Formats: sequence, structure tokens, C-alpha cells
Amino acid sequence: MPTLAYLTQVTQGSPGDISIRGFDDGLWEDLLSLDLACSLKWKVLSAGPCPNARRVFFQLVGEPDVEGRDEPVADLLGQGSFATRREAGRQFHAWVAAANQEINEWLSTSGQLTFSGQIPERLAGFYAQRAECLGQHVANLSLDGAKAVMNVEQAINTRGLPFGAPTPDGAWVNMPSQFALGVFEAKLTPPPEPCDVYLLTAYAALLEWEHRRPCDYGVLLSLDSGSGQLCCDPYYLGEVARDHVRQNIEHFASLIAWSRLQGQDVISDQKQLDVTQLCRPECPERGPACPRCWYRGECRGQT
Ligand code: SF4
Repeated sequence: MPTLAYLTQVTQGSPGDISIRGFDDGLWEDLLSLDLACSLKWKVLSAGPCPNARRVFFQLVGEPDVEGRDEPVADLLGQGSFATRREAGRQFHAWVAAANQEINEWLSTSGQLTFSGQIPERLAGFYAQRAECLGQHVANLSLDGAKAVMNVEQAINTRGLPFGAPTPDGAWVNMPSQFALGVFEAKLTPPPEPCDVYLLTAYAALLEWEHRRPCDYGVLLSLDSGSGQLCCDPYYLGEVARDHVRQNIEHFASLIAWSRLQGQDVISDQKQLDVTQLCRPECPERGPACPRCWYRGECRGQT
């Protein structure tokens, strides 16, 4: 269960120092120097690995080619039937959000844990089986249960950065100041590794910007496509993961510089980014990330 996966990491503590932080203006320097008004897709921060700025370019101008997204799904957690995997994903999100709210209620009131009949039994059982262990972690940390509640689907305030309002599926931001914050995503189709880490770390950096305190932990809830079992995986969002976000900011800045060199008017007088003016960077030699890239069809003309 997500809150248990977060608190387990908190209990174990952070394994190392992190020098790249979202509350340090230095991380955002290249971005802020462009003086953009809010017009930038925040997901530019979570574009996956690429030898140059090409993946950031595709992230800004196109849609990822997610395998199986429009194929039918007959069963989801014992419930059927869904027209497409994309629609099933939306339903999965809604159920997980409802289950997280139930856990929040239970943590805040110390009452009886119950799940609405709308939540599939398999998901409710997954949460219920882990509730006792969650209660033990709360007690071990001498926590008021209300401090461990997850903010469900609450937009991050990115005031001062040129992004809209990124909304993670959840975030633990109410913990006492000695504990690092955490971020949560639920994905029926998780992004291919290592993009899961990129996504969580981008959220973490933005939460650090908003709350001016460390956010070191991520949790991803997904459904194993083979076994149909729920998987709740913890992620430590350390220095290497932060470097991915920093590199994407650098790639974005280099993309703007490259496009301007080609004579393109990429940022208007109103400080808006015009993605139609962006120039596609050179195609690099095939890199190790290419076989798992969602844009490889567009980039290399094959899937
Ligand atoms: S296919 Fe390779 S070069 Fe093209 S965008 Fe993806 S990672 Fe970058």
C-alpha cells in the first residue's frame, strides 16, 4: 500500500547526501534565465534518457507512442469490461484515489477501516492486509496519524517557475520537519524503466520548490500485466535521479538556443513558448536508451 511503502522508507532513513535540490534556485537557473511565462509542459523535466535534446523536443511537440494504449481490456482487478487500456487506466486511477482517501480517513480518525463498495475487492484487500503494518510504522515513528495522510491529486504550486499545475496522484507533505516528503503515482501502464524514476523525481523536485524542504521518496503502484497482481514499489530519489532532471533542463535550454541559432522565434514578446518554432535536434548515434524510448518510431522511423 502506498503510505506503507513511503513510511517504510522514512523509517529506514536516507542512504546518502543529495546536493541537487528543487529548493535551490541553481537547479532552475537555465530555465529561469529564459524568462518564460507559464507555457511550458512540466513533463519536459521527466523526458527520459537521450544522447541529446531530441527526446525533450518530442516531449514538447508530440505524444508518446504507448504500446497497447488503444487495445481492449476485458478485465481490471476482477471488474470488466473496459473499452481500451487508456479508459481502464482512468478507472484504475479513480479507484486508487478512493482507496487512498479511505486510508487517510482511517489514519486521521483511528476509526474502523472500511472501503466503499465502489472499490474492487482485490484493491481493497491489498490495502486492508497492510493496514496493521502501516499502524505499526506510525507508532514506531511516534507520529500523529493525521501527519501521515497523503494529499490526493493536489496540484503543486509552481509559482515562479514557468509551468502549469503538475498534479501527482499523491504526496506526503504533512510530515513533521525531520522527515523527508514523498510522492506517489499510480499507473496501469507504468512508463518503461528508467522513466518511472524520471517522473517521480521531477515531481519531487517541484514539491521541493513548493515546500522548501527535501522530498526523497517515491512510490509507484501498478498492476503486473502478466500476473494481474498489484505491485507497490518504493523509490529512493537520490543524487543520480536528480541529475536526470538537471540534464533535461539543460537539454531544454540547449533546444531553445539551437532553435534561435536557426533564426526561429521560439519565445514570443509575451514570453510564451511557441513549440511550432522549435527545431528538431540532430539525430544522434543510437544510444542505449533508444530501444525503450516512446518516441523511437517518430525519431528513427521504426518501432
Ligand atoms: S529514440 Fe533515442 S535519440 Fe531518439 S528521442 Fe529516443 S532516446 Fe533520443
